[in-house]
Amino acid sequence: MARAYNFSAGPAVLPEAVLRKAQESLPEWQDSGLSVMEMSHRGKEFIAIAHQAEQDLRELLGVPISHRILFLQGGATGQFAAIPMNLLRGRSRADYVNTGNWSKKAIAEAKRYCTVNVVATGGNDDPMSIPPQPAWRLDPDAAYLHYTPNETISGVEFHWVPQVGEVPLVADMSSTLLSRPIDVGRFGLIYAGAQKNIGPAGLTVVIVREDLIGKASAVTPAVLDYGRQSEAESMLNTPPTFAWYIAGLVFQWLKDQGGLEAIARANKRKADKLYAAIDSSEFYRNPVHPTCRSWMNVPFVLAEQTLDERFLADAKAAGLLALKGHRSVGGMRASLYNAMPEAGVDALIAFMRDFEQRWG
Ligand SMILES: *Cc1c(COP(=O)(O)O)cnc(C)c1O
Repeated sequence: MARAYNFSAGPAVLPEAVLRKAQESLPEWQDSGLSVMEMSHRGKEFIAIAHQAEQDLRELLGVPISHRILFLQGGATGQFAAIPMNLLRGRSRADYVNTGNWSKKAIAEAKRYCTVNVVATGGNDDPMSIPPQPAWRLDPDAAYLHYTPNETISGVEFHWVPQVGEVPLVADMSSTLLSRPIDVGRFGLIYAGAQKNIGPAGLTVVIVREDLIGKASAVTPAVLDYGRQSEAESMLNTPPTFAWYIAGLVFQWLKDQGGLEAIARANKRKADKLYAAIDSSEFYRNPVHPTCRSWMNVPFVLAEQTLDERFLADAKAAGLLALKGHRSVGGMRASLYNAMPEAGVDALIAFMRDFEQRWG
């Protein structure tokens, strides 16, 4: 069977070229006599793979020398706890922006460690939007400000970076990291579960400014302590070696595509096309205000909810997989991560037009 177009929000599509390369090297990596899965994480082969991945990620994102890159485990969800444990640094309060489900989860976890000041709440209106920054109630004593640049479930995305002065800016970029260039220097900490836009599940990327490292509270588990992990080059314990290797192949693939400027142009083109198709139809609707529509996750509803199951079944038969919206919002969601080819978006749009003609 040919590979279908996978619109899953995560674990998500990987570049076919990466999968083929992984397949080739699966039984034996280069002339090592071993699969990457079988190698010691302390051996020179894996150390070379790990360093290359870090260097490529640093180059792609333009990570300044002031920031460390950590390759951890525990997912973005683990970071919901690690962030207050590491970044409170003796303070008791942190600012959080609430723009949807993932913000709420980050807030709920942070509340176990500190007083959370929700500076603004968005994503409940119709169309959904993000409160403009002048309306935010910032706490001058906050240890940091946390926000979710892309809400994977509702498809609400910031197309701007908050201004927070001296307060460290912390961003859950799980579903948007590597989708476009960013100015990493503006952030105190960026984190992402790998399974959206980086590689397989099991790996968590943390990019953290050096002066925020080494100040974790005493009860912080060692594997979540940025200081200890940084000293150990993310190998305090056995890291997810194979996921790290595949992420490295994805970074090389991104460089082959022309880097993040080029990928951003492709991503914008893919998203614009799909939103245009939705907006020009009476049958489909996207519930997000045009100023904060996600490039990566495009939710849409059909005029007739009773057609949802048929839409999904017909889409699957046409080789378009995992379009079901998140259980909390219903409808459909097409995730258009870096590895989704433009031809996949074209196929989805053609299918949607055809479905509307038959059932609309
Ligand atoms: C998927 C996702 C998470 C959860 O990631 P895990 O790696 O499963 O913990 C958190 N935040 C955002 C924005 C996500 O998209």
